[in-house]
Amino acid sequence: TEAESKDDDYHSIIKNTEKPIGESTKHEFQAETRMLLDIVARSLYSEKEVFIRELISNASDALEKFKFVSMSETEGAKIKDRDRSLEIHILTDKNARTFTIQDTGIGMTREELTQNLGVIAKSGSKAFIEQIKQNQAAGDNNIIGQFGVGFYSAFMVADKVEVFTRTAGEEQGWKWTSDGTGNYEIQPAEGVAFGTKIILHLKGDCREFSDDDTIKNIITKYSNFVGSPIYLNGKKA
Ligand code: ADP
Ligand code: MG
Repeated sequence: TEAESKDDDYHSIIKNTEKPIGESTKHEFQAETRMLLDIVARSLYSEKEVFIRELISNASDALEKFKFVSMSETEGAKIKDRDRSLEIHILTDKNARTFTIQDTGIGMTREELTQNLGVIAKSGSKAFIEQIKQNQAAGDNNIIGQFGVGFYSAFMVADKVEVFTRTAGEEQGWKWTSDGTGNYEIQPAEGVAFGTKIILHLKGDCREFSDDDTIKNIITKYSNFVGSPIYLNGKKA
């Protein structure tokens, strides 16, 4: 039945099959990224839940990008599983105190990982940094929500973030990991599904984001702009 096959997809997605292999390389965040991360990590901004909006919106963008590429005649034809189902899965684990989001979207190459997650490209984050430089508004935590600091907002609630990603056509995936201070590490990984999986190891005072009911309510707020289905712990949210 459709429900059963959905269930299989879900299990293939949540199985922790990723295994880092080979050498890990250490990289430094760009100076402006470090500055942003420092502010984000120390932020007392009360609406920390916006990180969910940002990660869902990135997953949704990645799915749209995949849809676009897979539909193109030349590029799309090269993709083996161009018919893969386009989904977002969110998993909460209270015992491990983690929040995980996985999409079956475009994924990232090694180059894209360093470019996209190591350097501030996002206009919102750039504007945020400008604002802080101008009036030293770091104390004004409201501006984090106002600008939307994208992927980096994960570090409001997590003291370690792991990203597993693999793009169509690549044999092997990559693991990106950081504690949100000066550096991040990249390592090849096997057993990585196509798309991107992001694991947030939550700070002690942010354990609420590993609670199924809490997340369900938050997803409801932010999911109306998303074109693909979102599953929370295997159930359609
Ligand atoms: P923005 O979404 O405005 O570009 P973000 O900080 O939210 O800024 O994300 C930075 C970049 O990281 C994105 O533009 C994208 O290239 C990459 N990225 C983030 N999340 C994902 C994801 N789930 N799949 C693929 N790429 C992603
Ligand atoms: Mg974004």
